[in-house]
Amino acid sequence: MTSERTPEETVERLTRSLRLRLEDDGRAGRVAVPRAAPKPVVVNTEPPAPSRAPEVRAADALRKELAAAAQHVEGQDLFDFGAPDLEGGVGRQDALKRVADEVAQCTLCKELAATRTRTVPGQGDPKARLVFVGEGPGEEEDRQGLAFVGRAGQLLTKMIESIGLTRDQVFIANILKCRPPGNRTPTPDEIANCLPYLLRQLEILRPKILCALGGVAAQMLLQTRDGITRLRGRFHPYRGALLMPTFHPAYLLRNYTKDARQKVYDDLLKIQAELKK
Ligand code: URA
Repeated sequence: MTSERTPEETVERLTRSLRLRLEDDGRAGRVAVPRAAPKPVVVNTEPPAPSRAPEVRAADALRKELAAAAQHVEGQDLFDFGAPDLEGGVGRQDALKRVADEVAQCTLCKELAATRTRTVPGQGDPKARLVFVGEGPGEEEDRQGLAFVGRAGQLLTKMIESIGLTRDQVFIANILKCRPPGNRTPTPDEIANCLPYLLRQLEILRPKILCALGGVAAQMLLQTRDGITRLRGRFHPYRGALLMPTFHPAYLLRNYTKDARQKVYDDLLKIQAELKK
């Protein structure tokens, strides 16, 4: 019986017989065995199908989730630190608790960690559209572990209520999460150590408006040397939100003039009007 072999079949047959012979005398694997001829390449002239690899689909889904989470932030969403979707209150609450737990363990500022009674991460509504940011905890805040609960805090409560809100409807935090001894001004190193915690909180909260209380908070957030008198009274774009600097309630307590109170009230009314938009 005669058989016509293709060149590939011939190479394959020779390869098999050579391998058998080599195996017989124990040399298999030590000699390069000829390979079967490569199959002819078929050139595909069709345009390639769009790539929908799983990681591309996951990235698309994450982008959509982030866009949905940022919906209440007007303008460009610069709170884009790669946060997971934290919609729905519960997710935000857990995420905020995680930050607070980390703050409680923090020892980056040796002096503050050694002298604090409690850390003061900040508190309030996880879905707040308005966030107040002060400088750092005072004595009473250090004792209770809550932001703005001393005399300045009582005035802040009045400020919040003057625009028809309650403390429970906003979020209140500070640049610094530990009390500087004797309420001294925070050092640049302390601010650098602590600011990332606040930025993570803001990333979770994604508020529409931030109100910086006093010069330190305003300057640190806006990264400017301009004083509070110059900065206050108008909104500054801040990472997709709007930031209104105003006088610190502790300053108001020291300068309880009609003029100073009116200025703070004017700033708050602008916040109220913006929240209604
Ligand atoms: N002053 C602040 O800046 N923050 C507080 O929490 C209390 C007083």
